[in-house]
Amino acid sequence: MSTNPTPALPQLPDGMRILSHQDMRAVRDAAHAAARRHGVRGHLAEEIAFDALAAAGVFNQPPEPEPDTCSAMFLPHQREEFTPDMLGVWQQCADEPGHVDDHDSGNTNWVDGMPGTLPARPADREA
Ligand SMILES: [Zn+2]
Repeated sequence: MSTNPTPALPQLPDGMRILSHQDMRAVRDAAHAAARRHGVRGHLAEEIAFDALAAAGVFNQPPEPEPDTCSAMFLPHQREEFTPDMLGVWQQCADEPGHVDDHDSGNTNWVDGMPGTLPARPADREA
């Protein structure tokens, strides 16, 4: 069956958003340009830029899920609930594909349908 495609982006509270791939490239380019001007390492500047955006409720696109584990994902988006090193860092469920209980990444757990969640992909999807 090809109906019911996985939603590409999660629901988030009003005022929060997911950067487009184009926006992410622009942020990365700006961070690397600033890093060159200030003599810091580019990947550090990039990480700081994305952490700062996450604090303001602006997040990265979800990554492709790793194979061999449940593909449900969760975006820790509540700055009151998550430490800065978790905020905005996409979590993938570490349980068996097709399990029926709550999802758990090892760092946090969640239930399908909550804000910031993406459901597991259909099991018969081709890799
Ligand atoms: Zn799961």
